[in-house]
Amino acid sequence: MKKLFDSLVRLLYPHVCLLCGADLVEGEEQVCLVCRSDLPYTRMHLEPDNRLEQLFWGQVPIQRATALFYFEKGGMVQKLLHQLKYKDNREMGVLLGRCLGEEIAGSPVAEADCIVPVPLHPRRQKLRGYNQSRLIADGMAEVLHLPVADGVLKRVRANETQTHKNAFERWRNSESLFAVGERESLAGRRVLLVDDVVTTGATFTASAKALLQIPNIQINCASVAMAI
Ligand SMILES: [Zn+2]
Repeated sequence: MKKLFDSLVRLLYPHVCLLCGADLVEGEEQVCLVCRSDLPYTRMHLEPDNRLEQLFWGQVPIQRATALFYFEKGGMVQKLLHQLKYKDNREMGVLLGRCLGEEIAGSPVAEADCIVPVPLHPRRQKLRGYNQSRLIADGMAEVLHLPVADGVLKRVRANETQTHKNAFERWRNSESLFAVGERESLAGRRVLLVDDVVTTGATFTASAKALLQIPNIQINCASVAMAI
């Protein structure tokens, strides 16, 4: 009976690596250790003035920023994020968040009082059923032992499709996307703002601008991936 149950579980949740198809062994989740070590880590958390931080220059003052992986079209990281955003694979968000948390633990970018996930517009969240950045934040919170402050930052306008816009249009389109509630709760705090993927930095910049209405707030940013 137990054997039958185990087989059913395996059928429902195949224990093979999402990237290479190898059987997963005990302790591996979704991605095998070989693929995990082959992922394109940026190590930007160790690099002041890195490429992600440069996206904020002249826009908004933040402290430190990093991304866990480089994102390439058709690459391994795109596959993982596709699972998270379009395949209802919520556990992937928590898993990626744990990886990101483990990577930055002890580095300046992890020096924060709480984690703030970049919100989705409520309509988008209703369609997807969850906010992928919240799941990433939950995974990071487990590793970094920080609370998640969800709900302080709100998305007040859905962004139109960004695909056919140039960098300036994307940037302008992302202005006033966010609003801040309960300002007092984060006054004087160091927040770690979290998103799934960075392309132009427009979403991070707009989120940070909104958060900077809070008195004496300090902002670090971390994302799972950065497009190259
Ligand atoms: Zn693999």
